[in-house]
Amino acid sequence: MQVTSKVRDREIGMILWAGRDSLDEVKALGVRCGQLGVGGEVQITPEFVEEWKAVADEFPLFTVTAAYEGEDYADIPTVQRTVGFIPPATRAAREARTIEMSELAAELQIPGIACHIGFVPEDESDPDYVAVREMVRRICDHCGTFGQTFALETGQESAVVLKRFLEDVDRPNLKINFDPANMILYGTGDPIEALKLLAPDVVTVHCKDGDWPDKSKPGSLGSEKPLGAGAVGMERFVETLKAAGYCAPLFIERESVPQEQRLRDIGAAVKLLEGLRG
Ligand code: MG
Repeated sequence: MQVTSKVRDREIGMILWAGRDSLDEVKALGVRCGQLGVGGEVQITPEFVEEWKAVADEFPLFTVTAAYEGEDYADIPTVQRTVGFIPPATRAAREARTIEMSELAAELQIPGIACHIGFVPEDESDPDYVAVREMVRRICDHCGTFGQTFALETGQESAVVLKRFLEDVDRPNLKINFDPANMILYGTGDPIEALKLLAPDVVTVHCKDGDWPDKSKPGSLGSEKPLGAGAVGMERFVETLKAAGYCAPLFIERESVPQEQRLRDIGAAVKLLEGLRG
């Protein structure tokens, strides 16, 4: 059975990180489905595959989300230098790792993969732009052989730049994992306006919250907040998703706090979203 038919519309999910989150713990919080986050240091062994196959059998997984070795989210210049496909030195290794994630998703019968590709340059003649566009085409074509989507996480460029990039790559399985908090953390634009523009290509969303960067500190990122405590406006966000006909799960994401607090915040986020999901 397709994973998408196993859950209610706008079911409450979360991004679980391999090696960090346990299924029993997250189920106890009321989380009903997930995205599997795989850090760059994780070795994909037969044991790893068996472990997550067992999870996928009882807990619908929609996405394999890749992070890469050497990525650092300290501030905007560091993100530009280290994250995703834009840094040339790690590009080939990350392409190979992304293909490995597509093959993992196929083994686990997960219908798509996702990642941050980094800051897409605004200038379409920039050699990094051209190289990354070609790389994204190759990854989409590989995912396509398994019937998978490849979703780009939002936030590191404006919605307009991202939409133009999608059109330029021109692959039907290239989609968006929309993260409203990232638009705020990176100062790239109002997330609700961005969502309205990108909605036709949004395949999954993160429910994450945050505050805008401090304008007196150029290059700084905003700060992630517990869901409902930041500048996104979760009610407006979920209402905009409903108006756009979005039915896939609401995947809670909470990153930058110790695990105990993270689980507490996720538990509270489940309650908040249960009241909004409709
Ligand atoms: Mg996210």
